[in-house]
Amino acid sequence: MATVVWLHGGACNGNTQSFLNAEEPTVVDLVTDFGIDIIYHHSCIPLMGEQAKSTLMGVLEKGGPDIFVMEGTVIQGPGGSGRYDMFLGRPMMEWVRDYAASAAFVVAIGDCASWGGVPATAPNPTDSIGLQYLKGQHGGFLGKDFRSKAGLPVINIPGCPAHPDWVTQVLVAVASGRLSDIALDDLQRPATFFKTFTQTGCTRHQYFEFKQSVKEFGQGTRSGCLFYEQGCRGSFTHSPCNRILWNRQSSKTRAGMPCIGCTEPQFPHHDLAVGTVFKTPLAFDVVPKELPQGTDPISYSAQAALARAVAPKWVQEDMFVV
Ligand code: SF4
Ligand code: SF4
Repeated sequence: MATVVWLHGGACNGNTQSFLNAEEPTVVDLVTDFGIDIIYHHSCIPLMGEQAKSTLMGVLEKGGPDIFVMEGTVIQGPGGSGRYDMFLGRPMMEWVRDYAASAAFVVAIGDCASWGGVPATAPNPTDSIGLQYLKGQHGGFLGKDFRSKAGLPVINIPGCPAHPDWVTQVLVAVASGRLSDIALDDLQRPATFFKTFTQTGCTRHQYFEFKQSVKEFGQGTRSGCLFYEQGCRGSFTHSPCNRILWNRQSSKTRAGMPCIGCTEPQFPHHDLAVGTVFKTPLAFDVVPKELPQGTDPISYSAQAALARAVAPKWVQEDMFVV
């Protein structure tokens, strides 16, 4: 039986809400079918005050849990004391340090724990930081050389929030020793989920190919691509959002909402500056400033001009009938 302790730092609790919606497997399946013992979780386990403290201290005294899950940033302020985030009489960052040092595996759930996310965005008044990254910078609270007792760096499951089934499937893989299922990419994300792009499986891809755009936010949910005008980041964001659907039935881009790139370390991109949200910033009023991964402005422009010129009539129509 694998033991799990889940702590919560600087965050909105969105990853817990997401986790509780998991379907394949569900949170209950983790316990009943996969033998995972969730010793502490602020929303699932009814422990408070001295009871919670003695439980958490007891786990440390026995050598730590199998899996330490962190949701939210590590809050270091004010002045490096961590006292903006007190938990059971100690700064949360001290609990994080003890649990990271004692666990066989350390898993960061969501952007805030992985990279810092919204709380670490400038001016970052709480001095928030991710477990092993601050935005794209390797290091974070634990340092870039950190390895858990099992010899792995922090396993990052980013997203704002992370999709629930990414979380439960990684927990099952770790708990059952199927480490090959969680080979990590160069940002320590399980490659099985984060090797492809949000665009992989997007129902708008045929419009992307022929450079046909949805003109206004909310206009049409099934025709046109959201890259050219709406700032969709799906062609350069690594996520399986159109392979493993949300609620097993939809995704942002299927519902007409551009991908805002929430699984990448720089999220929120451009720090949500005016003119950068739901809009595609252009260079010289012509070429998108950020291009699909692997392209460059000259080859992109040539390919786009050709694609528009040869676009068939059907790409300007809503093809769906249900
Ligand atoms: S840019 Fe966005 S909307 Fe267009 S095909 Fe890619 S993921 Fe889908
Ligand atoms: S579609 Fe993009 S913004 Fe939405 S959850 Fe997936 S990666 Fe994040």
